[in-house]
Amino acid sequence: MDEAEAEARAETKAEAEKRREERFLEVTEHFRRNALLIIQKMMKLNHSRDNQTIQLVDEILHSIFFLGKINTPPISPDRIVNEGLYDKLKDSYPQPFELYSSQLPRRSPFSCLLDMIVFLEGRENENEIKQKLQEIIRDLKLHKGAPLVSSTICVSQKNPNSARYYGVSMSTSSKVPRQIMIAASCLPGSWDSHVAGAVMSFNQDKNKKSYFDGTIKLPEHVTCKAYSLHGEGAPMQPCKSCVELFGLVGNKTTGYAHGNCAEVESVSNLFKTDAEVREQARPTSEKFTDDNRSKAEKSVRDYLMNEREIRHFSRDFEFYTPSE
Ligand SMILES: [Zn+2]
Repeated sequence: MDEAEAEARAETKAEAEKRREERFLEVTEHFRRNALLIIQKMMKLNHSRDNQTIQLVDEILHSIFFLGKINTPPISPDRIVNEGLYDKLKDSYPQPFELYSSQLPRRSPFSCLLDMIVFLEGRENENEIKQKLQEIIRDLKLHKGAPLVSSTICVSQKNPNSARYYGVSMSTSSKVPRQIMIAASCLPGSWDSHVAGAVMSFNQDKNKKSYFDGTIKLPEHVTCKAYSLHGEGAPMQPCKSCVELFGLVGNKTTGYAHGNCAEVESVSNLFKTDAEVREQARPTSEKFTDDNRSKAEKSVRDYLMNEREIRHFSRDFEFYTPSE
């Protein structure tokens, strides 16, 4: 190879590299943009309360970095936050940087933002919570369906005078990350086990499992209402999948993936605190046995083991715990 030829080859390589980089920036633009804006917003909110919510910032960083890792193409933390902020964050929150590629998040990023707003506004102030989230979405121009943005919020109550429990829909980036997040949330340590059981009663193709039925019928006095986080914040009818999971009255024809909706996180949060209502909603199917449940859980673990992006995680699928 003479000198001219070598030079030409180097140039082509550099050009290919440049094209790859341009392509990367283009296809990951919305993820990177939303991730950065949400992180900055969380830091600001935390700062406004003298770092009382530092754990939520830590948790959202891990959740976002994890979703970046399992994105196609993968997006590493240094592609999400710029250099100055990267060093600052790594210094204050070292754990998310160390563990985003070996531990699973317990929930998707927007749930941490929801918790932050519930803390700031007060659990009983439902309207303020909804308004504040809508305001953030509007201000940051987080479009419906865009990566890392939830589209609905749900409020569950045992009765009209009791405490409110909130949830938001899965805030991932595309189908596979959403499936991974839903599967992970079914493992012990994330959703309430009855809620996880209800979700695991269905396969990813939305068909019901033949051997296991952990679906729930929420008691009459329990309310579970969802609202859009976009536009006017209109009430949303439960989709077919949520009707199947919890015996709600709603849409009979179309549904999202089981586990995707705000109802799921909201009911899970209610059950985690209220043992009485949880017991009342116990699944009643004959197929609801420990053995069948273990089999269903094994199928979830097998699915996670097969996912290329997280295949090297340990078989135990440890969840991330934010540092205090
Ligand atoms: Zn639904």
